[in-house]
Amino acid sequence: MRLQDKIALITGAGSGLGEATAKRFAQEGALVVVTDINAGSVERVATEIVAAGGRAESRVQDVTDEALWNPLLADIVSSHGQLDVLVNNAGIALTTNVEDTTLADWRTTQEVNGESVFMGTRAAIAVMREHGGSIINISSIEGLVGEPNAAAYNYSKGGVRIFTKSAALHCAAAGYSIRINSVHPGFIATPMLEGIQSSLSKEQLKNMMERVIGEIPMGTMGEALDIANGCLFLASDESKYMTGSELVIDGGYTCH
Ligand code: NAP
Repeated sequence: MRLQDKIALITGAGSGLGEATAKRFAQEGALVVVTDINAGSVERVATEIVAAGGRAESRVQDVTDEALWNPLLADIVSSHGQLDVLVNNAGIALTTNVEDTTLADWRTTQEVNGESVFMGTRAAIAVMREHGGSIINISSIEGLVGEPNAAAYNYSKGGVRIFTKSAALHCAAAGYSIRINSVHPGFIATPMLEGIQSSLSKEQLKNMMERVIGEIPMGTMGEALDIANGCLFLASDESKYMTGSELVIDGGYTCH
């Protein structure tokens, strides 16, 4: 019960890493508010958590909608007393190189992956100022190293990495007990990765998988639970001396 009595909000929790993180948090005693743009998927996740004996509530939230952030957090505070943990997880992947990326796609990627993290962090600080909390921003290995076919994604995830440090320094300087860290998953089998894979031909997929697996020192892709466990550590008081840090969970991919 490493998160006993903590109230956690996880965005993009209708699938993949957000879903796994919500379920892991609930197993450790947190009450999780799971949000997603997709109402059906986030309701399913909340129902499954409750059926397993956990505590969960679902809300529909488009993380790019600024007007929703403050009312959502105010509602959580009014219902549950406080917010202890925010995981800014919602994200989208765009697999185009710099030459093939349209400005519209670039902007959408920054809105969902970058601006939402700023708005969520700002809103969470406002409600965590008095009692403290942990904000976890999901970046990526693509926020640490370049990938030719991820121009907009690289930019967004690199921004999340360095923004996290800025916000962490601000909170420390202001004397708030709010820790803010980034998580950098490597290649994890989720619907996002499946979406990328389904857009490739059989030959392209084979080449991609050979290249990806070949470049992972541990020789295998990760599981959503690997990332959920990293988030659990950052959400818990076990990481009380960490802020502005980068938790890389990538099977060694970014070592070389
Ligand atoms: P996923 O399975 O596609 O889950 C992302 C969730 O976010 C989906 O439920 C999606 O809903 C939702 N979402 C998309 N746009 C949203 C919006 N505007 N507002 C609220 N929710 C929105 O992807 P994932 O692999 O779990 O990725 C989660 C995070 O980890 C992302 O930030 C991603 O960049 C990062 N990451 C993933 C990997 C990996 O290998 N999987 C590696 C590094 C980093 P819909 O499905 O309805 O669009």
